[in-house]
Amino acid sequence: AEDLLLKSEKLAVAGQLAAGIAHEVRNPLTTIRGIIQLMQSGRMKEQYFDLIVSEIDRMNQIIRDFLSLAKPYSTSFKRTNLHSFLEDTVLLFTAEKIMRNVQIERDFSIDNPWILCEEAQLKQVFINIIKNAFEAMPNGGNLTISTHVSEPNLAVIRFSDSGLGIPEDRLDKLGEPFYSTKEKGTGLGLMVSYRIVEQHNGTIRIQSKLNVGTTVEVVLPLVK
Ligand code: ADP
Ligand code: MG
Repeated sequence: AEDLLLKSEKLAVAGQLAAGIAHEVRNPLTTIRGIIQLMQSGRMKEQYFDLIVSEIDRMNQIIRDFLSLAKPYSTSFKRTNLHSFLEDTVLLFTAEKIMRNVQIERDFSIDNPWILCEEAQLKQVFINIIKNAFEAMPNGGNLTISTHVSEPNLAVIRFSDSGLGIPEDRLDKLGEPFYSTKEKGTGLGLMVSYRIVEQHNGTIRIQSKLNVGTTVEVVLPLVK
């Protein structure tokens, strides 16, 4: 019965989203169509190619975000070392942190933390959070990733950036589908992350101070 409930809830969310996705994907398609018409009429400019590529990338990102939401129940949970897992994820940002002038500091203070997770999904959550932190620091800055135990046996993972911050009256918009303040944002990253963490019996909390920075806290159960 519980499965059925989850399933119908998931379908309801998917239904709501389908309309939004259709809308979001139509915008880049309209742009690309217009460009191709210009090309056909001989008014071709080199930079149109870049525009086509970036619009296709945008559609791809929307679809990728959406797919990671659509398949969370066909999962296999594996016992995973949280700290190695975080290191693996941070490694993906090796080039980007140099280009963006971001220092990543670690302050890992759990002794041998094991969690149960669906690795591809949880990695997507950490990637989304780190990407948002980077994007909030257009002139570089610091990202501190810390872990500690919260009783009885929860792992708290904090991502603290020194970025732009979020106005207080916008905090409850976070995680709403398509809420984005970025020109090229999808507004799906946090929503997907909330749901994935929920499926890991965890929670996400976000605190922020405008012009000071943002802390995203992910809490996950520890296992033996
Ligand atoms: P997107 O990144 O595509 O905009 P997200 O769901 O990842 O979508 O984030 C939604 C919005 O939340 C962002 O557009 C931004 O306004 C805000 N946000 C998320 N993380 C941060 C952060 N670390 N610092 C400042 N704002 C953030
Ligand atoms: Mg994002």
